[in-house]
Amino acid sequence: MFAWTLRSAAGPAGAFRLSETPGGLTKLATMSDTIFGRILRGEIPCHRVYEDDKVLAFLDVNPLAPGHTLVIPKEAVATLDQLSDDSAAAIGRVLPRIARAVLSATGASDFNVLQNNGAAAHQAVFHVHFHIIPKKDGQGLGLSWSPLPSGGVDPGALRDAIVARLQ
Ligand code: 5GP
Repeated sequence: MFAWTLRSAAGPAGAFRLSETPGGLTKLATMSDTIFGRILRGEIPCHRVYEDDKVLAFLDVNPLAPGHTLVIPKEAVATLDQLSDDSAAAIGRVLPRIARAVLSATGASDFNVLQNNGAAAHQAVFHVHFHIIPKKDGQGLGLSWSPLPSGGVDPGALRDAIVARLQ
């Protein structure tokens, strides 16, 4: 009986709005509807390794190495640039501690922290997350690192542009 319309309300961030048109009722479906939102709400299970009032950490379901852990804010935003200072501080406070625990539990001493933003940057789940990926026994994150040839961009001008936006 209901006709739901689905339209993008937040571009590539992935948030969207569902409007129930006949009855006049409106339901908003936001970033909390990502798979990580569902994990946060306890709707689907995870192997939880850490939780406080602002942060949750759990094992990645498709690990690149044993102990591959995801650390997420409870704040439901898609990308790091959208994250509040409070949530950023909360994550920064616990990332090293969770990394130490992952290393100790897996026997790894090397690891990557990976944080993807946007589809072009390989983000698949549009709720901010940090990967902690142990690097051991040939497992872990593979990287292709291709520096640009020199001469393309004036680093001084770029520095000035970034600094101006941080004022
Ligand atoms: P991204 O490419 O967005 O940085 O990484 C998303 C990560 O989330 C992937 O490593 C993927 O394996 C993980 N992931 C996706 N769905 C689930 C899930 O339902 N449970 C858990 N624990 N991890 C998930």
